[in-house]
Parts: sequence; C-alpha cells; structure tokens
Amino acid sequence: MKEELRQKLHSIAGSLEQEVINLRRHFHMNPELGCEEVETAKKIAEVLSGAGLQVREGVGGTGVVAVLKGSESGPTVGLRADMDALPIEDKKEVPYASRVEGKMHACGHDAHVAILMGTALLLSKIPLAGTVKFIFQPAEEGPGGAEPMIKDGVMEDPHVQAMYALHVDNRLETGRIGFGVGAVSANVDDVLIKILGRGGHAAAPHVTVDAIALSGQVIVALQNIISRTVKPQEPAVITLGRIQGGYRSNVIAPEVTLEGTLRTVSSELREELPRRIEKVIKGIVSAFDGDYEFNLLPGYPAVVNDKSLVEILQLTADELYGNDILCEITTPLMGGEDFSFFAQKVPGCFFRLGTRGGLETAYPGHNSYFDIDESALRIGMEIMAGLVFNYLARERNE
Ligand code: ZN
Repeated sequence: MKEELRQKLHSIAGSLEQEVINLRRHFHMNPELGCEEVETAKKIAEVLSGAGLQVREGVGGTGVVAVLKGSESGPTVGLRADMDALPIEDKKEVPYASRVEGKMHACGHDAHVAILMGTALLLSKIPLAGTVKFIFQPAEEGPGGAEPMIKDGVMEDPHVQAMYALHVDNRLETGRIGFGVGAVSANVDDVLIKILGRGGHAAAPHVTVDAIALSGQVIVALQNIISRTVKPQEPAVITLGRIQGGYRSNVIAPEVTLEGTLRTVSSELREELPRRIEKVIKGIVSAFDGDYEFNLLPGYPAVVNDKSLVEILQLTADELYGNDILCEITTPLMGGEDFSFFAQKVPGCFFRLGTRGGLETAYPGHNSYFDIDESALRIGMEIMAGLVFNYLARERNE
C-alpha cells in the first residue's frame, strides 16, 4: 500500500470515527432479534444509499446488500456483517444501553454493522479499481442468514470473488487482530435422541423396560466416544444439554428425550460421530429390549480460512499499524459461525478484532454486561478498507 493511500485511509477514518460510534450506539440502543432486523436494515439502507451506493433490501429475509462500484472496473470483493441481537437483558448502566426490554446486542453485531457502514462511507470517498459488496446478514445467532442470502443471489451480479468478515473479541486487547489459517470455528450439529422403553410400576421393573435407567447408560457411554475413540489431537465435543422424562418417583418412565450438540472441526469426524453415537445407543437399548429414535439436525459448518486471504490480512494489519497488533490463534474455537456458508462458495477469511479496553469491556459475549471499547471501531473500519485495497491490488498483480 502506498504511503499516500495509507495516510488518506487514516485521515478519512478519523473524520468518520464519531459517526461510526454514533451508529454503533444507535444499534446498541435498538437491538432486534434474528430475522426481525427490520429497522436495522432500514437504517443501513438509508445511510448507504445516501452515500451513493446501490442498495438492495429484503435479501434472504431482512438482509441488505450495498454495492460500491469503483471508478475503474476490477474484481469484486465481499465484506460481511451480521445484524442480529440476542434475547438477553442489558444490565449495563451506560447512556447507550438497550432500550428494548429483554433484548441486547451482547455479541457485538451492532459494532460489526457500524464498522461495515463506516468502511462503505470511507471507501466511497477514495477511487477504487474494482467493486465492493457490503453484505449485512440476518440471524447469525440462529437460524442463520447467510444461506438464505446466498439462495437469494447475494454472491452474483456482480459475482463476489472473495469474502472477509470480522468479529469483535473481548479476549483480545483493543485493536489487536486475531487470525488463523484453516478451520477457525467448529461444525455445529444437534442431536435429538429418544430412548423408548415400556412403562410400569416402580415395584415391578422386571415386566418393564426402564427408559431412565437406559438413558443413564447411554449418557455415560456417549461421553466415552470422545475420550476413547477420537484422536486426542482432534478437537471434538459432545454435550447433552437437555434431558426430559418420567412422571413421578413410583412410575417407571416409558420414554426419555435427550438433546445434545456435537462440535467437530474435521469433516470426517463430523460424519463419523453421529454414526458412532447411534451405534452406542442401539447397542445399549437393544441389550435391554428397549428401542430408540435418533435424529441429526445439521447446523453451521466450520469456517475454513483461505491462506492467501489471511496473508493479505497480515499484510494489511502490518502496513496500517505494525506487526505487533497481529495475534495468531492456532486452535479453532468450538463455536459456530454461519460465515462458513459464504466461505464454502468462495475463498473467505474470518478474523477477530480485539475490543477489550478495561474491566468494563472484558465481559465475554452473550453476557448481560457485554460492552466493547469503541476506539476499536475505527481500527476495524481501517482494516476492512485496507483489505479491499490490498485484495484488489493483488488481483490486478500490482
Ligand atoms: Zn457473534
């Protein structure tokens, strides 16, 4: 990146900083849950069409797409932000706390939207040799907004060749950039298990099939799958988060329901684990004349970062702020992230932006006191804009 451009990026970002902070506070005060991001979408559309971008609303539900065509033609790069809040009570005492009871931006998606809007405003003021698509997606926290947007054509017309997205992160100090090559999030799939027995009197177990006793064995055996059959170096989690069954102390339960989540990184294990789980359940229940139902509910695949896009991120962070702000995250987080659907279509890179300034911004995501150090917003905006320039330049072999 030329020194002149670097200076320009810094100075335009500086002039936009307060506006981006105000936008973030506006969204923070007015959170909307997944698939309900109507006012959020309206605000994005209003501001970005005012800045001269071509805006399309209602993409894959409440999604918004804004296209910025540069002064010269060239490749198209996509930048994505998620818009949804969570059903959590905001307990912070700050002037910009949520004004909606029981809803809160507790994962920083308000910051993602504000950063991306700032990036669009910034890039609209500098000549570009290519096109940028700003993608604001609904419902990252579930049921997912990336897939519906892709089905609605967000990756075409013009065709997006590569995608970047960031997530704020309170484990990292303000402005640090966390990056990883390869898988950076997990495959997240849910399982629904029914253990079927035959109910009866608690005093006569021999003429029943006790679904509670069977599920106890199933639970223990399922935990052995990870510890005894999965290679220790391979990340995998089986968590049973819900169990329900039975009537009262003197009745043998005819049925127990178990709900769980599977987290894997490799696609082989993603296929293998449900097979093994079903095998374990089948073995245990059949040994005691019970039966079962097993349903796999596929969720988000793992985000796999493209190496060359990560290299552009490293270069950009280094050019703008120096190598010290980079922080390599070598093990994938076992959370889910539906940016993966974009990254399955085209090369993608999902990275983290540190937002921990002090104690009040050290709360983890999904906590009632979650907040960010707003001085990270400007850094996020500059990095996103810098990525666009460096990506377009690389594609044109500059
Ligand atoms: Zn999030």
